[in-house]
Amino acid sequence: IKVQDYRPQPFVDFTKEENVQAYQAALKKVRAELLGKNYPLVIDGERVDTAEKLTSLNPCDTSEVVGTTAKATIEDAERALQGAWKAFESWKKWDMDARARILLKASAILKRRRMEACALMSIEVGKNYAEADVEVAEAIDFLEYYARSAMKYSGFGSSETTWFEGEENGLMSIPLGVGISISPWNFPCAIYLGMLAAPIVAGNCVIAKPAEDAGLIAGFVSDIMFEAGLPAGVLQFLPGVGKEIGEYLVNHAKTRFITFTGSRAVGLHINEVAAKVQPGQKWIKRVVMELGGKDAMIVDETADLDTAVTAAVQGAFGFNGQKCSAMSRLIVVDSVYDTVVSQFVERARALKVGTGEDNANVTAVVNEMSFNKIRSYLELAPQEGQVLLGGGAPGEHDGKKGYYIDATIVGDVKRDSRLAQEEIFGPVVTVLRARDWQDALDIANSTEYGLTGGVCSNSRERLEQARAEFEVGNLYFNRKITGAIVGVQPFGGYNMSGTDSKAGGPDYLANFMQLKTVTERW
Ligand code: GLU
Repeated sequence: IKVQDYRPQPFVDFTKEENVQAYQAALKKVRAELLGKNYPLVIDGERVDTAEKLTSLNPCDTSEVVGTTAKATIEDAERALQGAWKAFESWKKWDMDARARILLKASAILKRRRMEACALMSIEVGKNYAEADVEVAEAIDFLEYYARSAMKYSGFGSSETTWFEGEENGLMSIPLGVGISISPWNFPCAIYLGMLAAPIVAGNCVIAKPAEDAGLIAGFVSDIMFEAGLPAGVLQFLPGVGKEIGEYLVNHAKTRFITFTGSRAVGLHINEVAAKVQPGQKWIKRVVMELGGKDAMIVDETADLDTAVTAAVQGAFGFNGQKCSAMSRLIVVDSVYDTVVSQFVERARALKVGTGEDNANVTAVVNEMSFNKIRSYLELAPQEGQVLLGGGAPGEHDGKKGYYIDATIVGDVKRDSRLAQEEIFGPVVTVLRARDWQDALDIANSTEYGLTGGVCSNSRERLEQARAEFEVGNLYFNRKITGAIVGVQPFGGYNMSGTDSKAGGPDYLANFMQLKTVTERW
């Protein structure tokens, strides 16, 4: 297969009026064509509707139903699993090139429909223009990148072995079988697509369970995969409730692997259930996980303070802090604490609140459960620190009811308090005062997570120390700590943040393959 070298998609420039207008036209089109739509299940290539539905609400205006998806039953899950194993028999024999071509065609279709996908996410999960655009760019990147990385696993001897006289030796990478992909609502296009495209291009069949709050965008991009030519049964589109079909499939003896992105609590539960061997089970299930974070950025006294404050605002409040990579702890050394924190508060105060469709900076959080969870941390805030900005959960904006939470900054929080240790997943930042640089690094490493982290400093020595000692999977210097780009910053954390599987990294596909060594004596 002939392809040019991988290059990440450039982002759309929304300072240009024509791009803003194109976005608004896409919003109109999506409102006219997709609103109120129902996406049925897709099992073995057939669309199957169910009596019960999952309803997707607009978080910025909860009186509006964005659409529905079917809600799979246990019987549907069983059928999907059986069908996927049937499809696997032929899919595993396809040439790597031919499988990769489907991803590349899907990418071409998604490029043409980029603005529609963005607009749909503005309505369904409240992303503003740039946040939605960056995400669809990432989705395209995953398709392009995984299509190319598939090539390196192609054929006998694709991995290096040492020559041995009188024999031919080689390693081949073979797919695992059928797995389930349980994806999150915060990147319902990119992570949903990446988590199914990678195992699929490696020759596996996937049952994709999208997040309950974002079924429409998942249906939209799944249809693109079907349009690109995926054979029936290779991708089973199975929206449903995690506790029902997710639990059933994770338990199932015939599930070969599980790929999950979501909370630490659910991830650990999946890990435990998957570890238990069921009657008739022939393998140790493979579990690939991206869990939470309590990500910190350190600012020391040598830092360029303007750079640091910009990085803090972007990292903390992009998509309302609903990223596992979000900066939820800002750690500032004492000598610059007051200056940095007051500038941070002023910059955050200027953020515009509103809907994703209005391209606001801070929009509503995704659902009632998140809203209530974040609110419970806001109640705790005055006891654990000093509320410097926000602190409220108005639950409405501009006369519309929605899950609106104030951009909130809580200063002088103690390192072992709940606000400094637990993932909040909203626009709430905990600020900690460090005595000096070493104390700041100790605070940064004081949680059980290890996902993203950052340092704003101009001390080469400290940056090198952080490179070695800051315990995170993705470390950023003198910039925001979110927004990893496929192939450029392979993404994923360790400790309680996951299995460090590095989405968008050179070895990501290996998570979904097993190796076989074959030796022939000559
Ligand atoms: N990859 C995203 C980033 O670098 C975060 C993914 C997530 O929140 O799950 O910001």
